Amino acid sequence: MSEKYDVVIIGAGPAGYVAAIKAAQLGLNTACVEQWLDDKGKILLGGTCLNVGCIPSKALLDSSYKFAEARDHLGVHGISVEAATINVPAMIARKDNIVKQLTGGIAGLFQHNGVTAISGTGKVIAGAKVEVTDKDGNVQIIEAANIIVAAGSVPVHIPPAPLDNEYIIDSTGALDLTEVPGRLGIIGAGVIGLELGSVWGRLGSDVVMLEALEEFLPLVDAQIAKEAAKILKKQGLDIRLGARVTNAEVKDGAVEVSYSSAGSEHVETFDKLIVAVGRRPRSEELFTTDSGLTLDERGYIYVNDFCETEAPHVYAIGDIVRGPMLAHKGSEEGVMVAERIAGKQAQMNYDYIPGVIYTHPEVAGVGQTEQALKANGIDYKVGIFPFAASGRALASSEAEGMVKLIAHAETDRILGCHIVGPGAADLVQEVVIAMEFGSSAEDLALTVFAHPTLSEAVHEAALAVDGHAIHIANRKKRK
Ligand code: FAD
Ligand code: NAD
Repeated sequence: MSEKYDVVIIGAGPAGYVAAIKAAQLGLNTACVEQWLDDKGKILLGGTCLNVGCIPSKALLDSSYKFAEARDHLGVHGISVEAATINVPAMIARKDNIVKQLTGGIAGLFQHNGVTAISGTGKVIAGAKVEVTDKDGNVQIIEAANIIVAAGSVPVHIPPAPLDNEYIIDSTGALDLTEVPGRLGIIGAGVIGLELGSVWGRLGSDVVMLEALEEFLPLVDAQIAKEAAKILKKQGLDIRLGARVTNAEVKDGAVEVSYSSAGSEHVETFDKLIVAVGRRPRSEELFTTDSGLTLDERGYIYVNDFCETEAPHVYAIGDIVRGPMLAHKGSEEGVMVAERIAGKQAQMNYDYIPGVIYTHPEVAGVGQTEQALKANGIDYKVGIFPFAASGRALASSEAEGMVKLIAHAETDRILGCHIVGPGAADLVQEVVIAMEFGSSAEDLALTVFAHPTLSEAVHEAALAVDGHAIHIANRKKRK
């Protein structure tokens, strides 16, 4: 039996590593168990987010965006460049370097804060202990006053399209292609499909997205989703809704995909097929039945609002528990749990978690959508400002999309903000802060915004809620 820790965390993704750093900062003797190994067999920190998720996908989104800018969009500024070319291995190597830098950074932060990193696969066993099996099969039992399970998630696989990791790949494979596929099929027009479809589409692939649902991005505000679909289709993404894939097989160096749509059968051939149909919690072999942990009906570890499991002193955070599978959601849960273990009265506001799809332009939202408010019978008012009326957006030739602000009909409290347009990720964050402070639309309307900025569109949307917008014709009656 090794030393007893105050906190042992299973998983070093953005939920687990943030919890570990926070716990150590609060003076708790903390260890973090991680099973991921680098190519030299050493512990690799950062989880999905740093290694095969948020960071590498954004690195490729940025590279491909710069390429598309150079190829298609500089002429309007009077700039001409020699035909732009893309060196895919160099682009991937840049992405790998960024990942290496950031995962190494977490190792440095662990060292700095005194977090012990333990390489191996952790399992919660009875009596709030963690059994760790290292890569050579050696087993040790670690005693902990508190355990935080942050084992994350893995891609969902579907029987009609089994991965072969060469032609039929998941998001991880799509981050490491060595050349631009001529024709790229993607099953699932969700967040990953749109982001990775944008990357390879900008680089020259013909992208066809096969989405089972009839509705595009059902969790996004419907008006914003409609506008986003229009913009993305114009960019060349061929998004086919209501398409049910029935079979995918590799034939003569290509993938033949059969799907049904609107009652008829179709076949398409692609050079690569990305399966991006969601992620599921990685809960197998993670705890013994006598550990006290349970799964909910969807396979997530059951927790309450404070991320407490049904076993005393055992917590679970991040993608392994209910809620949106977002890095920042897991990290904030990690901070909350570390603080509660240290005796603080921390809690988390699940109502104001922003979500962003990093297409260009970005799609971002926080709070309630118009369709959800309607369904719940809540009276609301809406202010919309199109980027076409923003001086800054026009100056940048980035004038597609809009800001939509929703406020309560009587109290004027901001209930949601939904944006498709340039800088949407950062703009929506302004509204998240306002919402955290209980702001009304009028509070935002009375705030001074620098000119000329994209954020003026948020200001104008807030003004538009009561018919006071300056730079568009107001359709509604002023109050
Ligand atoms: P993970 O990051 O999955 O980390 C869990 C860790 O636990 C892993 O390192 C795993 O090896 C380890 N582990 C699992 N089981 C054990 C065990 N038994 N013992 C030891 N270690 C174990 N989210 C965003 O917010 N923004 C984005 O832009 C974004 N982009 C994404 C792009 C892609 C392509 C993908 C796939 C995901 C993206 N996400 C994004 C989602 C984000 O990556 C996840 O929500 C986030 O990583 C979840 O954090 P986590 O710590 O809960 O789990
Ligand atoms: P998703 O849930 O966003 O999208 C999956 C899509 O696949 C859905 O539209 C679904 O209807 C469709 N689908 C499911 N089964 C299908 C089938 N058999 N045939 C055709 N379509 C099918 O999931 P994702 O895009 O795989 O991403 C997984 C998770 O990772 C998400 O929960 C997301 O929150 C997270 N993520 C976040 C970001 C970000 O924050 N920018 C980026 C990437 C991933």
